[in-house]
Amino acid sequence: MLKGIGSSEGYGIGKVLIVKEQSLYFVPRSDCDPERELERYKKAVDEFCNKTKQVAEHLKEAVGEQEAGIINSHIVMIKDPYMNEEIEKLIQAGHCAESALASVCHKFSNMFSSAKDELTKQRAVDVHDIKNTVLSILLGAEETDISSAPENTILVAKDLTPSMTACINKDNISGIITETGGRTSHSAIIARAMEIPAVLSVENITGILSNGDTVIVNGSDGVIIQSPNEEQIEEYAKKRVDFIEERKALYEFVGRETTTADGIKLELLGNIRNTHDAVNVIECDGEGIGLFRTEFLFMGRSSAPDEEEQFEEYKRAAIIMKNKPVIIRTLDVGGDKAIPYLKIKKEDNYFLGCRGVRYCLKNKSMYKKQLRAIIRASAFGDVRILLPLVTSVDEVRQVRKMIQKIMDELSQKGVAYNKNLKVGVMMETSAACLVADLLAKEADFFSIGTNDLTQYIMCADRGNADVAYLCSTYNPAVIRSIKYIIECGKNAGIPVGMCGEAASDKYMIPLLISFGLDEFSVNGSSVLYTRKVISQWTKSQADEVAKLVSEADTEQEIVRILKENANKT
Ligand code: PEP
Ligand code: MG
Repeated sequence: MLKGIGSSEGYGIGKVLIVKEQSLYFVPRSDCDPERELERYKKAVDEFCNKTKQVAEHLKEAVGEQEAGIINSHIVMIKDPYMNEEIEKLIQAGHCAESALASVCHKFSNMFSSAKDELTKQRAVDVHDIKNTVLSILLGAEETDISSAPENTILVAKDLTPSMTACINKDNISGIITETGGRTSHSAIIARAMEIPAVLSVENITGILSNGDTVIVNGSDGVIIQSPNEEQIEEYAKKRVDFIEERKALYEFVGRETTTADGIKLELLGNIRNTHDAVNVIECDGEGIGLFRTEFLFMGRSSAPDEEEQFEEYKRAAIIMKNKPVIIRTLDVGGDKAIPYLKIKKEDNYFLGCRGVRYCLKNKSMYKKQLRAIIRASAFGDVRILLPLVTSVDEVRQVRKMIQKIMDELSQKGVAYNKNLKVGVMMETSAACLVADLLAKEADFFSIGTNDLTQYIMCADRGNADVAYLCSTYNPAVIRSIKYIIECGKNAGIPVGMCGEAASDKYMIPLLISFGLDEFSVNGSSVLYTRKVISQWTKSQADEVAKLVSEADTEQEIVRILKENANKT
């Protein structure tokens, strides 16, 4: 039995598929047999074209014609006569296929990047993508294809990046195991949203397991059972059925208001990555969208979506939600959310680097497109804007100024939008917490991002297994921060919500009720569960728990109090 962090509840039984890390390292050689290298190169290009066609087909169905077109253009590029001539020349001179490809692509990429127009510049990113894929074929270092994994697959990886998880077909993946990450890492959040059991931070799991091994993933207790016997398989198959039944029982909460046991009405919204998730939130009876993580629109593609594409997506979300709130967070790139074509500089400490609103304010022309798309979509529903990773009043003022300018331009052109569009601030940094009273004067609402708030308050990376014991919302420092932020919001008369994972945590919910949180935003799959837990507490019971917690001085003590009291409801 192997232990990790249970990050998405439930039980999965299946066969292991190890997601390999790609190494594109090669030793450049200039003493090769040209004929052999040319043959290797041509074979690799043929394979590249076949694969690319397949990916384009898949994309056409899953995303749309336009995306498929971008991928198909890679085939045209790799067959470009001039580029091929250059590569062949180097191979004829004795260079190995890898070297010839890398050096010609480098030359083309430099040429495109120095162009003035954006479209040509973008081709540099395409050349880079093509080079890496053909290199991986030449080196036999192909990326594992997650999207076509067979049924009952357990994905095992050092780390699953958000863009990798975006390719998961949830009908086929029964479990996820990684060597890194904690409950609030993005792999965990996506696993929960897809209702796939996940155990993260299992040391050296990619070395311990092999492809095809049978394992049980117990996401509820954070346990992996390797090569289970018949009895264990039977036991867990039953647990799995019971778990699914329990989830079904939550359906009695469909159509009910979200209220505490003594009738305090609260708002319960959903977190989404795209409009597909928005439909899921409606199906799960969410009362709107509390967090639209727009960075997912920018992932898994080779260029940023333009204003029109974004506008259509945000408008769709507004229409799906029929005048219920749709809180759209502007691009939260950086940190662990890498988007290669945005070419964010490699940073030693990327969680403290150019991410969130910092990146957007440095890349104003791109940001302007997003803001304009959101503002235009506000004509179609109760759309609101949310700013990520804010640390100062100045950042909010800068964005508000941009918004005002865009609104003026739209008014001049007679384009419709909501003039009273609300602008909220994600409360997820230690600085934002300390100046919550000041930010409350600038913002129309707060949304507490406990995933980041916890890592920044505790100085403990949310994806690092070695400090996962510190990255806990139950820590007195984090609980005090949450309480203070809510207090500041209340004093300023603005609503305070929470879109971090703590909003659906049954142990945290009584504290949030006691502190006076107005709105809970959770994954679609947690909506009914959260409504059920909220309905089990009266305000005075919640206050009693909050009082006990305020008197405790360690995380362990707080966990004990929260667990003991949760069992009493
Ligand atoms: C958070 O930090 O709590 C949050 C909701 O944002 P994300 O998880 O996308 O960083
Ligand atoms: Mg965050």
